[in-house]
Amino acid sequence: MSPTSIKTSILPPTVENLDLIATWLREGNVAAIPTETVYGLAANALDIAAVRQIFAIKNRPFYDPLIVHVPDAETLFQWTEIDEELRKTVHSLLEAFSPGPLTYVLPKKSWVPDIVTSGHATVALRIPRHPVFQEILCRSGCAIAAPSANPFGYISPTSASHVFQSLGGKLRYILDGGDCEIGLESTIIDISHEHIRILRPGKITGEAIQAVWPKKIFLENYSSKNQDNFRPPLTPGMLQRHYSPRTPLYLFSQKSELPLAMERNVARVLLSQEGHQGFRENDFFLSRDGNLALVAKRLFALLRELDDSHAYKKIYCQCPPLDGLGAAIADRLRRAAASSDGG
Ligand code: AMP
Ligand code: MG
Repeated sequence: MSPTSIKTSILPPTVENLDLIATWLREGNVAAIPTETVYGLAANALDIAAVRQIFAIKNRPFYDPLIVHVPDAETLFQWTEIDEELRKTVHSLLEAFSPGPLTYVLPKKSWVPDIVTSGHATVALRIPRHPVFQEILCRSGCAIAAPSANPFGYISPTSASHVFQSLGGKLRYILDGGDCEIGLESTIIDISHEHIRILRPGKITGEAIQAVWPKKIFLENYSSKNQDNFRPPLTPGMLQRHYSPRTPLYLFSQKSELPLAMERNVARVLLSQEGHQGFRENDFFLSRDGNLALVAKRLFALLRELDDSHAYKKIYCQCPPLDGLGAAIADRLRRAAASSDGG
């Protein structure tokens, strides 16, 4: 059977369906499941053939490692090979932020499959807090590798219908847990004894981590504030262009930077409706009052909607300042716009 001929079903998270998906995953298959960040394409992380299917369905290159989702701290530590001091540090971070949208990159046990880590000596681990994902971890008894359930490089899905739109026909089941609460991928940190490196900013901000970690924190690879610390991407998953709509995307910071007279087939996406004058029918607002949690939650859905409407030849989107959650939103926007501005 060709992979494009699979009938895809969207299932509500009933007890029967939780059991069905848990068994389906345990038997070596893949399914899309909700997390609090974005929808994930899940497989048993210890089943190499199943993990291979994730890469095939997403068209993801094997050099881009996966995050392994585990139910609790005890399981997380089973996957790592770390000394007592580092363990204590991870413990304090786990207490503050897990379960939740924080991923820890740590030295791995030798049995962790290379396909999951792309051959790295480290493994990325997260304890998700979405109740449906927790149920699947618990009922399947598997650690679950789950990158975003979208074709490699495209905008991540924040609802079951987004998954269906871009991967329908390529997988059997999508478990519907409603719209994702956060809407951006997890924060990823690489921890050593001396410092923490934020590989990907997210809902758990550098400021929040700094509050429980007194030592040095670096923001990897994107912030103009951190040019002194600039280094090439540690892993190819941090490549410039990612999360991109097909429609060319351009960024601006202040409303005053926007050209006044714009064509009808150019969409303008603004962070806040407050104080906005001269409303045009092609103006879209991510929040009423600039609440960045709401902006994050809606961003990918709106970019998809504009992309799928085929009504626009360009999208102009306002980029927030880099403080707090703004760092994560700006990171995704910069990557999404990377090819549009020649970056
Ligand atoms: P996602 O695409 O959301 O599943 O996130 C996976 C990303 O986590 C990859 O693209 C990498 O940037 C990062 N990652 C995963 N494993 C590692 C690792 N062992 N070392 C460094 N980064 C990693
Ligand atoms: Mg992804």
